Amino acid sequence: MGKLVDRPEPDVMIQSYLPEVWNGMKRVSKHFFANLLMKKGYVTIQYPEQKIDYAPRFRGNHRLMHREDGTVRCVACFLCSTACPADCISIVAGETDNRDVEKAPVKFEIDHLRCIFCGFCEEACPCDAIRLDSGEHRVPAFTRKDEMSGKEDLLSRGGPSISKQGGEFK
Ligand code: SF4
Ligand code: SF4
Repeated sequence: MGKLVDRPEPDVMIQSYLPEVWNGMKRVSKHFFANLLMKKGYVTIQYPEQKIDYAPRFRGNHRLMHREDGTVRCVACFLCSTACPADCISIVAGETDNRDVEKAPVKFEIDHLRCIFCGFCEEACPCDAIRLDSGEHRVPAFTRKDEMSGKEDLLSRGGPSISKQGGEFK
């Protein structure tokens, strides 16, 4: 059974809101002077001069990982774009000179205006080809075009991955 709460009869003081305005001002002033005079316990930082360290599991800017020969690890299997709930990954598959894999992406594009940084693409990828562990957040842009990350941009943030396909993750 829920708890019954007494409701006071509204009187002139309650309807004027003055006691609650006073209580609010008291609380704001207390924090203002505590921060100004004691300078401790700040929850804000002087961004951009000061930056906080992101948690190791932070999901930031996407990147595409490289093979040992520097080529893209992605095999254009479309698992990431199928798993993506925001439908923001576009891939066009093409042929590759690498005889160990069937395909490679000719185009790999992410629309960051639609992305919700859920990490499903990273989890779905069987090749450790796409990651969100760049440690960077997206810088806001003025145009939709600047929010699109193409293959070259994603590869420029990438690095070598030596995980075995379908096997050990590194
Ligand atoms: S992080 Fe989520 S929304 Fe963004 S591209 Fe990956 S799967 Fe799609
Ligand atoms: S990034 Fe991974 S899941 Fe996406 S198409 Fe390439 S290999 Fe497949």
